[in-house]
Amino acid sequence: MMTTIDHRNAWELLVGTILSAQTQDIQVNKITPGLFKAYPNIKGYLGLRPSDLYKFTKHVNIYRNKSKNIIKAARFVHENYNNKVPASLEKLMEIPGVGRKTANVVLSNAFGRNEGIAIDTHCITVANRLMLYKTKDAKKIEQRLMKVVPKSDWRTASLLFIALGRDVCTARTKYCERCVLKDICPSSTVKK
Ligand code: SF4
Repeated sequence: MMTTIDHRNAWELLVGTILSAQTQDIQVNKITPGLFKAYPNIKGYLGLRPSDLYKFTKHVNIYRNKSKNIIKAARFVHENYNNKVPASLEKLMEIPGVGRKTANVVLSNAFGRNEGIAIDTHCITVANRLMLYKTKDAKKIEQRLMKVVPKSDWRTASLLFIALGRDVCTARTKYCERCVLKDICPSSTVKK
């Protein structure tokens, strides 16, 4: 999954991706320059309280929880990986606040490794409308897509699903008349 979260290294991408849950990347990119300037590396977060981050994070959803997770993640990476974000899906998913989607984003974009396809709520909506899978379970959708999409295209596939779900095939409304898949999608409202 290619990301539109601005970052200069794996740690910044990890922080940006934690902040991006239920928040647009564009909003995250507005607050991270100040955050990364104040705390340029993992060590800077170790002695902080979550409330120390609020002045930066308060403009994103569920910022209290995200602030807490960022500090927990910094301490975890400091204690277990000598301040280096690990380049493994399993190890990334052990970090507090990091789920499979975040781990996939970091692995793919910071380390150029594709071990899975990042599935977010947009992907889930689109996959169900395309009837690739009738489930809200991100892991099942990911496993299904990994079988049908060539590995070299995993990043692109995730990006396209997310873009489609965010801009055209949204959870609230489907704009089939301007969708590139309108002629082949089983849920299309455009008459053939
Ligand atoms: S044709 Fe309509 S339902 Fe199908 S993917 Fe496009 S917007 Fe979604």
